Amino acid sequence: MLKNDQLEQWDRDNFFHPSTHLAEFARGNLPQRVITGGSGCHIEDREGNRLLDAFAGLYCVNVGYGRQEIAEAIADQARELAYYHAYVGHGTEASITLAKMVLDRAPDHMSKVYFGQSGSDANETNIKLVWYYNNIVGRPEKKKIISRWRGYHGSGLMTGSLTGLEAFQKKFDLPLDRVIHTDAPYYFRRETLDQTEEQFTAQCVASLEALIEQEGADTIAAFIGEPALGTGGLVPPPAGYWPAIQAVLDRHDILLIADEVVTGFGRLGTMFGSEHYGLKPDIITIAKGLTSAYAPLSGSIVSDKVWAVLEQGTDENGPIGHGWTYSAHPIGAAAGVANLKLIDDLNLVQNAGEMGAYLKRTLTEALGDHAHVGDIRGEGLLCAVEFVQDRDSRTFFDAGDKVGPTVAAKLLDEGVIGRAMPQGDIIGFAPPFCLTKDEADEVVGKLVKAVAAAGL
Ligand code: PMP
Repeated sequence: MLKNDQLEQWDRDNFFHPSTHLAEFARGNLPQRVITGGSGCHIEDREGNRLLDAFAGLYCVNVGYGRQEIAEAIADQARELAYYHAYVGHGTEASITLAKMVLDRAPDHMSKVYFGQSGSDANETNIKLVWYYNNIVGRPEKKKIISRWRGYHGSGLMTGSLTGLEAFQKKFDLPLDRVIHTDAPYYFRRETLDQTEEQFTAQCVASLEALIEQEGADTIAAFIGEPALGTGGLVPPPAGYWPAIQAVLDRHDILLIADEVVTGFGRLGTMFGSEHYGLKPDIITIAKGLTSAYAPLSGSIVSDKVWAVLEQGTDENGPIGHGWTYSAHPIGAAAGVANLKLIDDLNLVQNAGEMGAYLKRTLTEALGDHAHVGDIRGEGLLCAVEFVQDRDSRTFFDAGDKVGPTVAAKLLDEGVIGRAMPQGDIIGFAPPFCLTKDEADEVVGKLVKAVAAAGL
């Protein structure tokens, strides 16, 4: 094993880390934590620290760390056939089986799944499919995509444009044309404090209607949204939101893309968020939970309606000109098959629902009356605590006070990983689905200590 100081030097000299303050890293002001192992809800680092990972990596290691069944499936696949492509009708036993398993779990009206590598490339695929769709049905002007402020859909050119968070666009010359944003369905941050949840939903719907009116429905191809907002703050939608939004989209013949990269395969306590909130999407994006991040794999699940047009398009234009070298990579597919089987065998979707309710309840009991806690919210194992300077007037702290990052750092000192979400003083929890009551109690107890240690 390399000496720590040598590894740290190599890290600083060679490694361009994603989503990192590069200059601070180079100056040695960021932790260079090297993760060496994991089991269940815990990870270990090179210094021998054992941390309770209450964010499951980047809310992706849904079945927990160290699952030998998935490791074996990957190893077996690598020995037998590490790679073959999926172009021109090729497949492997793993990729074909996984497609069947995904469709068995997806809403009934879904038809086929296209496999990619990451959530970002799956959403890039989705936008291309939507444009292709409208060209085939003879509506070449109907191309704009509506996304929401605070939505997160990836870091690519188009997907970074769809993402409604400033940090992912600033200085990158994004958003690109054809992307427009509408209101974030974030009741706690409503402008008018005495508004009810139903009134707030009505306002979101009215502002979507107004945007469609202003742009012209015949120029808008699709609406993309996460069933519950993820990176933008971990926010379940306000009462009645999705049925009302869906009705507007249907009326204007606008396709719905449900980005289920976080919510797919159980995080909300149901197999899909679409099922949870009664959405009927035309395309569903999947990634993280498809393999629990044991290997990179994503997917775009398309509905019967979309599929019929894609088939027609190839009859008219030849093979679909969209493919990745690693589409349906056999190792990712093998990981996916083993992962989905494990989720069933261990009843993890149900556990996510039950433990999510327990975590939210215990967080509320412990911190619900705290003078600086403005909101405790969640659905399934997607929970957040939002801090405010003053509860009654709902005054937020200045971003420069770094309240969220400070609480997260104090929590880490206690041995628990929560995530300071990028916009607002929000600590997020999205642990693996195998979380136990004792682990949930530990998260809550240590958060209480961290909040005090942060001076709140
Ligand atoms: N969509 C959502 C809802 C996500 O949360 C993410 C990643 N956090 C993505 C898309 C992009 O996925 P990836 O990072 O795998 O490209």
